[in-house]
Formats: sequence, C-alpha cells, structure tokens
Amino acid sequence: MLTGRQKIIYTNNSPDTLHALHMNLYVNAFRKNSRMHRYHEERDKYYGGSLISYVPEAYLGYSKVQNIRDELGRLLSQREDDTLLEITLAEAIPPGGVCTLTLDFEVKIPAQIRRMGRFNREGVSFSIAQWYPKLCVYDHRGWHKNYYLAREFFGEFATWDVSITLPAHYIVGASGHLTNADNIYAMMMSEPESTSMDRVLPSNGNQDSIPEGVESLQRNLAEITRQQSVTVPNRTWRYHAEDIHDFAFAADPDYKVEMFDHRGVRVNLLCLPDVEQRWAPMKEWVTKIIDYMEAHVGRYPYPELTVAQAGDGGMEYPNIVFITGRRGNFSLASVTAHELIHNWFYGLLANDETHEAWFDEGITSYYTTRLMEHLFGRYANREYETEFQKKWFPREDARIATFTGWAHWVKQGYEEPVLTHSDYFKSDPSYSMATYYKGQIFMNALEYRYGRERLDSLMRDFFEVYQKHHTLTDDFKRFLEYKTGEKLDSLFDQWLNTIEYCDYGIAHITNSKNAAGQNQVKVKLVRRGAITMPVDLYLKLTDGSWTGVRIPARHDDPNKPGLKRWTEWPASDPTYTLTMITDLPVDRAEIDTSGRLPDIFRMNNRSGFLPKTEWHWQRPLGILPTADTYVIEHRPSLWYNQTDAARIGWKMRGKWATDEHQIKAGVYAGTRSRTIDYEITYSTPMYSIGRQVFVDMASYKLDGVFQNELSFRKKWFGGAYERPPYYDVSLGLRTSRRFNSTYLNPGVFWEKGDVHVLTASLQWQPQIFDSPRLKMTVETSTFASDYTFTKADLTYYKPWVLKRNVATLESRIFAGLADGNVPLQDQFYLAGASPRQMFVNPWYRSGGTLPEKGWRDASGQRHIYYDGQGSMAGYADSNALGMHIIAINLDLKLTNPLKPLIKKEILFITQFEPMLFFDAGGVSGKSGKRRHSIPSLVFDAGCGFRYLPAFIPSWMGNYAIKAEFPLWVSDPSLAGQSGKSWAFRWLIGFENAIR
Ligand SMILES: [Zn+2]
Repeated sequence: MLTGRQKIIYTNNSPDTLHALHMNLYVNAFRKNSRMHRYHEERDKYYGGSLISYVPEAYLGYSKVQNIRDELGRLLSQREDDTLLEITLAEAIPPGGVCTLTLDFEVKIPAQIRRMGRFNREGVSFSIAQWYPKLCVYDHRGWHKNYYLAREFFGEFATWDVSITLPAHYIVGASGHLTNADNIYAMMMSEPESTSMDRVLPSNGNQDSIPEGVESLQRNLAEITRQQSVTVPNRTWRYHAEDIHDFAFAADPDYKVEMFDHRGVRVNLLCLPDVEQRWAPMKEWVTKIIDYMEAHVGRYPYPELTVAQAGDGGMEYPNIVFITGRRGNFSLASVTAHELIHNWFYGLLANDETHEAWFDEGITSYYTTRLMEHLFGRYANREYETEFQKKWFPREDARIATFTGWAHWVKQGYEEPVLTHSDYFKSDPSYSMATYYKGQIFMNALEYRYGRERLDSLMRDFFEVYQKHHTLTDDFKRFLEYKTGEKLDSLFDQWLNTIEYCDYGIAHITNSKNAAGQNQVKVKLVRRGAITMPVDLYLKLTDGSWTGVRIPARHDDPNKPGLKRWTEWPASDPTYTLTMITDLPVDRAEIDTSGRLPDIFRMNNRSGFLPKTEWHWQRPLGILPTADTYVIEHRPSLWYNQTDAARIGWKMRGKWATDEHQIKAGVYAGTRSRTIDYEITYSTPMYSIGRQVFVDMASYKLDGVFQNELSFRKKWFGGAYERPPYYDVSLGLRTSRRFNSTYLNPGVFWEKGDVHVLTASLQWQPQIFDSPRLKMTVETSTFASDYTFTKADLTYYKPWVLKRNVATLESRIFAGLADGNVPLQDQFYLAGASPRQMFVNPWYRSGGTLPEKGWRDASGQRHIYYDGQGSMAGYADSNALGMHIIAINLDLKLTNPLKPLIKKEILFITQFEPMLFFDAGGVSGKSGKRRHSIPSLVFDAGCGFRYLPAFIPSWMGNYAIKAEFPLWVSDPSLAGQSGKSWAFRWLIGFENAIR
C-alpha cells in the first residue's frame, strides 16, 4: 500500500475559464472489471484474455483520492469514473489564474501486470509508474480525458518536489534529481552489507494458453505476502525536478548501482546482481547514446538520467527508463537506446502519445536504427549474439528489416492510417506497424527528401524551439514549412492520414542520336502508387560513370546535393519521360540507390529485364535480401539411394525481400543409374489478387517419379490480422507418373501409370492455444488419368489439457472414404503415412537412404515409422490398407518426470517427452490388385517418447525424433511376431507435422 499527499499549484495558461479539473487514476485500471480489464478480455480472448483475470483480488490495485481541498481549505466534490476523476472547483480558474489543491491518496500497488507493479518477472520489487493522481492536459483541443487501456500517456509539464519513504534497505531510482544524496549514501555506507531478503527469481516458463507473465506473477505473489510482513526502519529519498511531465521510480533492495558523470549529467545504472554481467557494456552505450543525441538532436537539459532494470519490457519516463534486463546484447542495447531516445522526443517534445503515437515512437525508432548503426555498424546490428552468427548472417540490418516488414504489411492490405487513436487500431501488430514502422519509414522519406545533413539541421532547430512544450505533428509540419518555404500538406497527408503507397518504376531506356549527332537518352518512368515523391534517378554511362537527376514531384520540392534538378513530374501524369543529352550512351538507370525512398515495390526501380541479382553460397538461416536485390543461394548436394547410389547435384533457392517469387531448384545425377533428375518449385504471394493468396507450382523428376503440381491457397483470419478462427483453403491440380519402381523401399507399394487429380482442401482452427483443428481433403481423378477414382478424408484433432505443463490428452480422429480404382500409393493406410505422403520426405522417399533392415527385419518387423493416416504404430508390419478407414488415436503426453528434479537442462535427459497411447481403428474395401484390408476393428496400446534435440538451435527449425513402443495389439496376426498380443515392438521416426 502506498499512501501519499499531493499538493498541486495549477496555472491556467489557456484563454478559457476552467470550472473543473480532470485527473487520471491509472491504477484503477488494475481492478477487476475495469475498462482495461474488459478491453483486453475481449481483444485478447484468443490469447487467454487479460492478465487481470489470473490475479487474485488481493494482488490487484486501485487508487483512492480523499480530502481534496483548495487553497482556502474548502473540501471539493469529486466524481470518479474508472481511471478518470473529475474535481468540481468551488471557484472557477480564470485565464491566467492559479489554483492550489491538496489531496490525500492511497494506492494499492498491484502485482506487475502492465508497466507498473510489484515484483516484475525478473524479481524487481517495485516498478512504480502512473501511480499518483495525474492531471489531464487541457489545451486548445479541450480536456484530454482518456481512460487507461494500457497504452500511452500525456501529461502537463511541472516543477516537482517528491519525497519517497520506503523501508531503509531499498535502493531507489527516480525521475528528477536526488537532493538528499549525501545523507542517504552516508547512511547506507554505515549499515551492514546485506539487509535484503532472498527472493524467488522466476524463470520464463513456457506458457501456452495463459498470457505471458501469469506463471511468474503467481510465483511472486507468495513473495509479496512474505515481504509485507517484514518491518524495518524507513528512509526518505527526496527528488526535485523541473520541466518534466511525469514522475516514475523503481526500488529494490538488491539493486547494484553504477554512477558516473557524463557531460554534466549524473547517470545511474541500476540492475539486479544476476544481470550485472550483461549490463557491463551499458556505461559505454549510454554515453554514446547521449553523445549521439546531443550531436544530432539537442542537449539533454536535466541533471540526472537513470536506467533501471524494472517494468515489463522497455518503457520511457522523464529522466528514468525501465528495462527488463535478461536480454541478449543487441536487444539490451537497442531497447536502452530506444527508451533513452524517448527522453528527447516523448520527454522533451511531449507529444500526445494517445492520439499521435507515431510522433514519438516513429521518430524514436528512426533514431534507434541510426544509433544501432552507429554502435554496431550498418549490418549485423540485430538479434545475433555470437561472433559465429554475425559471421554467418552478416546481412541482418535493422533499416531493411523495418522496410521489408512494413512493405509486406502494406502489400497484404492490413495497413491503417498512422494518425489513428492508439486505442482504436484493429490489432497490436497494426498499431506497431503504423506508429513504430511507418513512423520510422516516414522519417526515412524525409531523409530521402532532404538528405541526412539537412534533415539533421532541421531537427536540431525544431528541437531547440519546441523542447519543453507539447508538440503536435502539425507543429512539426508547419515548422518545416516555415524553415524550407515548401508546402508540405500533401506529403504529411499522404503518408500519415492515408494508406496509399509509393511505387515508382523504370519502364525502359532508349539511346539515340539527335540531329546534332549527340547521344540522347530517353528514360520512361511510371508511377503506380498514389503517393508522389521526388524521384532521384541515377544513370550509368557505358564507361561506368554515374550521373544523377532529381525529378521534383512538386514545384517546391527541395534540391538535393549532387543531383541536377530536372523538370517537375506533375501528379496528374502516371508516366514521365526524361530526355537528356549525355556524353555516352546510358547503360542502366536506377531510382534511389540509398534505400530511403519508401517504395514498396523496388524490383522495378532498376532498368533491365532482370532485377538486380546476387549469388551466395547457402547459409543455414539464409541471406537477408536488401530491398532491391533478388538473392539466390546455392550449394552442392549429395544424397544416397539404392538405385542411384551416390547422387550428386546442385541446389539453389532464390528470394525477394518481401517473400515474393521464391524459387527452389535442383539438378542431380545418379552415379550408378546414370540418370539426371531435377526439381523446381515456385511460390509467391499474390498481393494483387488479395490478402493471403498464394500460388505454388512444382515440377520434378525424382527417384522414378515424374510430377507436376499447381495450387492456389488462401488463408482467412477471423477478425484482425492473425486473429482466429483461421481458415485455409487450397485448390490444386497434380499429374504424376511412376516410371521406375526400383527405388521403392521394401513393403512400399506404388503402381505405375498416370495418376492425375484435382485436389481441394480446407483447414480450420478456431483458437490459438489448445485449439481443435480440422482438415478435410477431397481428391478426384481428372483427364488422361489411368486410374479413375474419388476419395475424401478428414482429420479432427483436439487436445485436452488435464493439468497444464504436466499432462495433455491429445485426441485425433481420422476417417477416409474412396470410390473407384485407387492406386495403392493413394489408398488409406492403417498404420502410418501413405507412400505418397512418404515421398514428400527425402529420408523416406526411396530405398537405401535409411537402412533396409529398418523397413523389414528378419522377423518381418518394421522399425522405421512415418506417422500419419490411421497412425496405429502397432500394425506397421501389416501394411493394412483399403478404401475406407476410421481410426481414433489417444496420446497422453506427459512432462518429463525428471524435469522438476533437475534444474538445469541436461542434454538427453530432460529433453524427453514421455507419452502413453491407445488407438482403435480399421480399414476395409478392396481396390486394384491387392487386398490388405482387415475386416474388423483392431486396437493397440503402448508408450513412447518424443525427443527434442535442444542442441539444434531454434532458428534451424523444430526437429523431433519420436520412438513408439506398441507393446500390446489386439490382433497379433497382423503384427509381425505372430501369436503374441504382448511383445516388445519398437519404431522410430521423425515427427510428422500432419497432426
Ligand atoms: Zn518507444
């Protein structure tokens, strides 16, 4: 419980008479049934709802205000509504008038839920923000009364004197300047070393259907109770601050403090002992961040700056930032940079974050990227932790990642205007794409427009004039207009108020001789998007030299150093032809070589039929393409099967930055078979047709099969982006023929002849976590097929969480029906995947790749297993197949019993997931040459485990090895070792993702 007394001296700087004052009581958001609670219950229902639902009443929070009196001691009436409080004044405040209020408040500090609270997930005792009754802003737009829904803030500048009294062993970091420092440090020195208490440091457990943080929250509740019972003497920390608009503090008994002075600023770094090592470079980063911001934006005008390990991610407050500490190097550097940079924008330019979040987040993100490039270089400045990774993924680049992430979003049609109220974006990704990403992109567009030097000088001037004032996007626009003499309405409007896009392209170049015999080049340009921008066009002459021109979109567009100014491209014209006399013919033309023009389709920014292409040796994670390069990675390939023997080949894959036009291809030669095989696949999202539409094509001749495929897929989301229910529909055509059967594994049947089919499938998933899933497929033979048939199947899967993180029962039903003449490779298999499904996986595709004995040992048992279809491992030896199938599979998945006992992850011991299974099923119906069906229902049961090799890093994909021991079968005549229901049978396979 926090009790406080607040005295406010309020000056009415507006021309209006104020009869009432409005305040925010943010902590009331942490009550059950608050607006924030309801907002997140509804908005995040597929993610488990609001965190508040998981916290017992005793650990929630509230804020209570009492005794509001004016300077004459009159008790004022108040009306509370969720996170807002209205105070009716006894006497109105005239323009220029001053009113003094005193009030008492009481805050029950909630467990850490959103931004503030007790015991965050890293164990910091107090992260105290948005805690006191805070005056709403009154400006020319009126009162800014926003209910707190967990997003942004807006507050009045003031002079502050704040005293914080806490038990003496706490170390505090806060906004403002500590005025009784000598006193406090002297007292602390004279005390015995550790007065702090042991704590439970929660780990980041794997939480499925409950919101992030619930688990650690619950563990911390016990600790809160324990600490509340401890009584120790108090100590008071006194702070003074001027010209800041919010006040936050963090406190913990175990904080390690590093203090230093940098350019007249006292910097305090506070972290818990367990992250001290990771925080070692913090001092260097913070000094470089301050230096960079002071050089490019303006001076940090306060005496102190604190970086505290606290909160629930990264959050900026004036003079103090809260950062969670358990992060990798780049993440820690970039969050620190981002939150500190906010002190220049949110802090000093004090925009209204609720209505114009981009003006803070977008500009801050733009400088964050610049700072990361400054600290670590243009490339490899994100994500990667080790030198090894840096070496292997050197193209990782925050600037391009921002651009491609955003371009992808725009092309999918999910964009919302940047200047949307923060609380009304359709989804969280939509909010961050508009404010962080597009805000940054807009700053890039300004840098493109002016060049960096000019933009920096404009920003410095703007900051100088507007710091310590509330600033709006419009102020920024008008300031630029005033400084440059340009009219910027259309620029700001198009980028910030609409979802139009920018796309320029080069149609063609022609070189010719004019009447005077000079070389004359004509470059035809096209504009496809509605947004108009100046076009920086670069021309490469045949001798390799470059020349550049700027084609203005408006008469008052600025000149850019190094570029000749050309004639205007009027907004009315979709095309433009530049005619120019050059010394030599022009070889190539390129629009914007800097990558700063936010042109969402950069492939056409270069002349020539083919886009700019780069070839690289393939790397595990792939090379990140730059925005205007098609990247092809290639590598040799070596494989083995019984027919080809060693198979030597060469593979390549190509990709565009926004996932368009993905090509994979390979050519292989069998050393024994002397045959040449090939495969080529092409897939691309079809943005022009609609959201989430993809086309896939494949053609191959591989291991005795010749096949061609074409399919269209479309995904639907239930509501906003990536919200369930999910639907996935595909339609396709497949022609295939096996012309060589010597490749087949023992016991795998595949009939020769043409099998041509039309396929349709539907998948459905109604929730995110613990969701049932349904998949239906229909296949029917088509023209020129040697087999005439129709088949349909259905898979329904549902998990039942018996006890979270302990036991889950996964149930599955598989049913199939077929009619006509179905080739053996396409019939239904009781035990596992059909031959056609196995063909997709190269390990299972052909004989000899996996040991032949595994497919059929001396006693007729199969040990290699590929899960799928009836999924009854107990009957793997029988190869039972047919025209009709029904199977029910129940898997009880358990946590490794050793896991709670062994704290550390130990390879080969803690990474096993045991399970028990029981299946029932049968196949029937005869078609074609053979009959393998079994007449009645059979059952099997056993145990097994999944092994998740954690030494394979997650970026390489998810691998799992599955072992199954079907110890009991109801019909032993179908299961190898005949006559025995109970026997030791074992099967091993790679996890199949069909489930
Ligand atoms: Zn931010």
